Amino acid sequence: MSDAIYKVTPEWAKRAYVDEAKYNDMYARSIKDPTGFWKEAASRVDWIKPFTKVDNACFDLGKVSIKWFEDGVLNAAYNCIDRHLEKRGDQTAIIWEGDDPSESRHITYRELHAEVCKMANVLRARNVKKGDRVTIYMPMIPEAAYAILACARIGAIHSVVFGGFSPDSIAGRLRDCKSRVVITSDEGLRGGRVIAMKANVDAAVEKVNGEVDTVIVVKRTGGNITMNPKRDIWYHDAAANAGTDCPCEPMNAEDPLFILYTSGSTGQPKGVLHTTAGYLIFVAMTHQYVFDYHDGDIYWCTADVGWVTGHSYILYGPLCNGATTMMFEGVPNYPDNSRFWNVIDKHKVNIFYTAPTAIRALMQAGDQPVKKTSRASLRLLGSVGEPINPEAWEWYHRVVGDGRCPVVDTWWQTETGGIMISALPGAIAQKPGSATRPFFGIVPEIVDGEGNVLEGECSGNLCIARSWPGQVRTVYGDHDRFEKTYFSTYKGRYFSGDGCRRDADGYYWITGRVDDVINVSGHRLGTAEVESSLVAHESVSEAAVVGYPHDIKGQGIYAYVTLMDGVEPSETLRKDLIAWVRKDIGPIAQPDLIQFAPGLPKTRSGKIMRRILRKIAEDEPTKLGDTTTLADPGVVTDLVNNRQNKR
Ligand code: ATP
Ligand code: MG
Repeated sequence: MSDAIYKVTPEWAKRAYVDEAKYNDMYARSIKDPTGFWKEAASRVDWIKPFTKVDNACFDLGKVSIKWFEDGVLNAAYNCIDRHLEKRGDQTAIIWEGDDPSESRHITYRELHAEVCKMANVLRARNVKKGDRVTIYMPMIPEAAYAILACARIGAIHSVVFGGFSPDSIAGRLRDCKSRVVITSDEGLRGGRVIAMKANVDAAVEKVNGEVDTVIVVKRTGGNITMNPKRDIWYHDAAANAGTDCPCEPMNAEDPLFILYTSGSTGQPKGVLHTTAGYLIFVAMTHQYVFDYHDGDIYWCTADVGWVTGHSYILYGPLCNGATTMMFEGVPNYPDNSRFWNVIDKHKVNIFYTAPTAIRALMQAGDQPVKKTSRASLRLLGSVGEPINPEAWEWYHRVVGDGRCPVVDTWWQTETGGIMISALPGAIAQKPGSATRPFFGIVPEIVDGEGNVLEGECSGNLCIARSWPGQVRTVYGDHDRFEKTYFSTYKGRYFSGDGCRRDADGYYWITGRVDDVINVSGHRLGTAEVESSLVAHESVSEAAVVGYPHDIKGQGIYAYVTLMDGVEPSETLRKDLIAWVRKDIGPIAQPDLIQFAPGLPKTRSGKIMRRILRKIAEDEPTKLGDTTTLADPGVVTDLVNNRQNKR
């Protein structure tokens, strides 16, 4: 693995909220006196009624219960909008950049307030009340933000379903949370293509037989759709008579804020439930410190609001901090591979947060589309979603950031609400491929298969020993599944499902999902290490490795490899890659089989789905399991047809 280290520069140590000494102090205090630490942190939000109790969590199987600030009362939308009006009414809250590069808009905090109130009043007029579940299936348009914040304003629980999901996936999620109201748009636009949003909702609603009584439709393209007069209303009609003021519902700290289904990389998605105060405080605090957000900064997170990253780091965290946050409707390669960088120049973006899948795809196209743009405004880069291969990290740093911007690799999950392990740019030196150090209040533990907590340099299963305010409270409607999934494997701790290594400097390296660990002749190998070695080869842009049954070794290593643009697969290259990994990591890690793949199966949020690759490698292409969360099912057919012979 890479052993490069990128030190904090003196300028960063000076400008940042937190330098190394302060990080050490604050972290130590957060561990020694968590109650005092979080009590103080909670003053970053405005309370309707202050809390008297800070933390109250139990991780014991059968009695798992997590509460933070439990007797306080507040409203998340008030904290994200209303309280900023006096000082920031005319400041841009949201910069919206359309799919078409000629379309963009600036929405001030005052405008945001009026729009969210209108949407809230439309919901109220349809009799939506505190605790009701509202499903939001929208493209990346400002109305998606209005809808989310309108729910928070009136105390309805939003369940955002990513706009790329099929009618079946929408129906499953509607059914699971028993939602009777859906907010959608006529169509969506992504990469110049039209997406049939309303038609997908129609098909989904059909499947849940009459449970949904209201579909609110925002006009985006003006395309042809069918409106059911008994059920569907145009948002612009309803909003025409809606007032631009709507009182905020007083919410208990532990009242639900939203349900969000996980990406489904490992199987059936879980309805992760987050509550109001702890979540909001945690995402606002992590947004401020990890991205070192200062007044006036232009901040862009490229995620979709359909994922937790969009919830926490496009909307709730930045808006709670009074930031200017960008929402992007399009994709990285439309109209061409320079889009991200052109948008950065257009809006003078200072902080840029994206995913390894996008970085690898853009790296595949070479440096030129990046280099022809300026990117002079950039100061900080971030990554989230998967382990970032050191090669991709270096490219991001060297080419995108011109060697000038620190890279924060942020490890977290839908379940954690916000960032758990990450560098702070003014405090923590970065090692490419490592998420580095824990955030304040976070106690990572690495545990072996028997549940023993390992000390010092070690490798094992990543657990979190203590509760933190942003933690998931339950799996919606299935507390039993919640306890079993996260608290039954290792007694008394939250189990993340990820494998992890801690190095001699106390840095954390996510090695992949524990379910994906490969056991070769008794040696346990994380997927990330082998994949990163392959990606470090100049011909490779992306790689995924899985194990398959092997007569002698127990498991053999099967590697799926996507090549750089312009490179052709060949037997020589295959041998080259095997020798490359052998030299880089050792004979134990050398792939037994390599399949050249034009594309890899990914979730809609861009994560490689290894469980499907494993089935193909095991020669069981008929047992692929749930594939509804796949972005492009066509990829799988090609992989199945070209699978490698084991003999
Ligand atoms: P499911 O739980 O349904 O299988 P999922 O785990 O993909 O889906 P998310 O909550 O979106 O759903 O993803 C969290 C996971 O993403 C983490 O557990 C980890 O495996 C991976 N991940 C996220 N950020 C990082 C990172 N910076 N480094 C390494 N892995 C990361
Ligand atoms: Mg997960």
